[in-house]
Amino acid sequence: MDEHDAVIVGAGPAGASAGFFLRSGSEDLDVLMVDRLDDAKYARYHRMCGEAISRAAFKDLAPLTPTNVVHNISRMREGWPGGAMIETRAIGYILDRPAFLRGVLERYRSLGGKMVRDAVEKAEADGKGTVLTMTSGKSIRAKHLIAADGARSLIRRTLFREEPPVMMWTEQHLIRRRVPDDALTFLQAERYKGGYRWEFPAGELSRVGFPRGTDSVEGEEVVETHQRAIPMGGLSTLMRGNVYLVGDAAAMANPLTAGGIRIAMLSGRKAAEAILGGRPESYQRWWSSSPFSSQRFMRAFLKLKAMTDDDYERAARGLGSDPLRLAWCYLSRPEFRDLYRTYAPSGIYGW
Ligand SMILES: Cc1cc2nc3c(=O)[nH]c(=O)nc-3n(C[C@H](O)[C@H](O)[C@H](O)COP(=O)(O)OP(=O)(O)OC[C@H]3O[C@@H](n4cnc5c(N)ncnc54)[C@H](O)[C@@H]3O)c2cc1C
Repeated sequence: MDEHDAVIVGAGPAGASAGFFLRSGSEDLDVLMVDRLDDAKYARYHRMCGEAISRAAFKDLAPLTPTNVVHNISRMREGWPGGAMIETRAIGYILDRPAFLRGVLERYRSLGGKMVRDAVEKAEADGKGTVLTMTSGKSIRAKHLIAADGARSLIRRTLFREEPPVMMWTEQHLIRRRVPDDALTFLQAERYKGGYRWEFPAGELSRVGFPRGTDSVEGEEVVETHQRAIPMGGLSTLMRGNVYLVGDAAAMANPLTAGGIRIAMLSGRKAAEAILGGRPESYQRWWSSSPFSSQRFMRAFLKLKAMTDDDYERAARGLGSDPLRLAWCYLSRPEFRDLYRTYAPSGIYGW
């Protein structure tokens, strides 16, 4: 049986980042990354995303920088029932996500990290680590295991037996219509059940998505359609022994924004640092005390989910990017205070 100091299952944002930071931190650590998808399927899978990430995300990810930028984003537009359209400053990027990830994986490999295409079918703890059984028939023992295997994580289901608090099933369509190049557009309404409809630029096209079954793209020229779940709300246990759950496997996407790339990459880094520092439990401590895991986001999501269009309209009336307006709304509408309080933090930590 092959043995490795660390095995990373999944080469998405969480796994790619974990690999890069593990090998950057130690040339001696023998690291293997496993992903089940071939190049074409990998690109298709990782295109299934709005591909939006904030500039702030890269402060936590240095020396990684935004590459393969398709659009520079400077504003967020939010449409509300009743016709209000609120515009706020939002600095970030739409990346060509598959190309960006390939770049991170190339850096990981150039640092001596190993990669193999195979799927993990079974994971079992033994006295010396975790034994992974692969579709190819091979068995691998991991001294440290980083589970970056996404929303339906096999490792979460079999070794942690925990399900995400919320699995938001979404559909996203690549359509032949242009939306503003520099803006992320969101539409809020009762029909989206706490979520929203998004319209993001995608080169000459755009990406339009919403919680599954809540809206349609009738009348649009649709180029490609995907459906996928976004797990949100965090888990109570993120590490057990030398096994770490990161990114979507740990349901880390922000419940209000559904943004998950940044926290996936950051959690990959934090798990790598816990391994390198020989302090596995520091990973759980980081998450529990991090602003990214604040329960205020889940509370706000549940509140929005229960609101009617009338509530949305009242909550949005008079709102704007001006902090004084927000303060006025906050003071005059106590029933929406928890939402207003979460508004700015979701812009800071949610993407
Ligand atoms: C429609 C949609 C739009 C989104 N838009 C945005 C956005 O604009 N901005 C944002 O920040 N977030 C967005 N998200 C969320 C974001 O895509 C995820 O949170 C992020 O991809 C999580 O990264 P990850 O590495 O944890 O998991 P994933 O990206 O799911 O990667 C998991 C990897 O693990 C591999 N894998 C899985 N199982 C196995 C196995 N058994 N063996 C081997 N390999 C395996 C997969 O092949 C995959 O490559 C969106 C999500 C959806 C569904």
